[in-house]
Amino acid sequence: MWHHSIIDTIGNTPLVKLNTFHVDQPGTVLAKVEYFNPGQSVKDRIALKMIEDAEKRGELKPGGTIIEGTSGNTGMGLALAAAVKGYKCVFTTTDKQSMEKVNLLRALGCEVQICPTNVEPDDPRSYYSVAKRLNDEIPNSFYPDQYNNLSNKASHYEMTGPEIWEQTEGKITHFVAGIGTGGTISGTGQYLKEQNPDIKIIGVDSVGSIFKSYFETGEFDKRHIAPYLTEGIGEDIIPENVDFSLIDDIIQCPDREAFVTTRKLARKEGLFVGGSCGAAVWGAMNYIKKNPLKPDDLMVIILPDSGTRYISKVYNDEWMRTNGFLDDRQVPELDEVIK
Ligand code: PMP
Repeated sequence: MWHHSIIDTIGNTPLVKLNTFHVDQPGTVLAKVEYFNPGQSVKDRIALKMIEDAEKRGELKPGGTIIEGTSGNTGMGLALAAAVKGYKCVFTTTDKQSMEKVNLLRALGCEVQICPTNVEPDDPRSYYSVAKRLNDEIPNSFYPDQYNNLSNKASHYEMTGPEIWEQTEGKITHFVAGIGTGGTISGTGQYLKEQNPDIKIIGVDSVGSIFKSYFETGEFDKRHIAPYLTEGIGEDIIPENVDFSLIDDIIQCPDREAFVTTRKLARKEGLFVGGSCGAAVWGAMNYIKKNPLKPDDLMVIILPDSGTRYISKVYNDEWMRTNGFLDDRQVPELDEVIK
């Protein structure tokens, strides 16, 4: 048996039980391990769908250039699909992102422009603005715009949701996902709620991001926006892919808790994952603390990417210490990080 190309291996990622979190408590907690995708993240799913929908609409033509503002994972997914399909890629990203991610994209032949993090989204220097400008300047270019392109959400509605439903034989009761563009939580959440409206959809946000306050008040209050280091979740804009009506609760995770939990996932579970995975698991454990699972409950947490992209950050003691995330104890027990 063989695949026609690497893009045929996207999806069908495994569900793995967490054994050192949620111990001796009722209910089951499973992780959906998205680093099994060929680009090592959940973003392969949306990259392929955004490209194929653009091809169908005639927006992406042979020999075209794909331009995107990406923190790396979407870029990797786009780069793989572009390599197979013969497109060029130009990406803009921020100076907050790990060099591993940028170097990976460059390894795949993509051009990457690094833009400042701490400027307003509509500032001409922001990675959103630079991507838009390049799209205007480069002929035969396509700007997927993962934040507002609803093919993002649709890929999870068509793929991730049905996978989880089938893998759990319809027994899932809680779904937990970090919110970045909102595609994962909204697309998967919509599919799951259509199968069973009682399934709880729980979002995980970063402290310093706008999502939680917007979810609770319906107001965009800039005073909640502050710098944070967790990559991939949280925003200072409200992307069109987030559908707050599907979300039952949002938990905010601080950087330290996200990173310490990430290291625990690697060292205790053998799950070598990225920082937003720690945030998702910490958020899930906090949700359970307030809303204990019942014996038949089945929670699925999305772990979006791999630890390989964070060797010089989350997995580097010096970086952790410099940022005040580690003291002399290497990995504090989870009880210490869950208040
Ligand atoms: N974690 C990581 C590492 C990501 O790259 C992303 C995507 N920005 C997310 C979480 C959040 O997923 P989504 O964009 O579907 O909300």
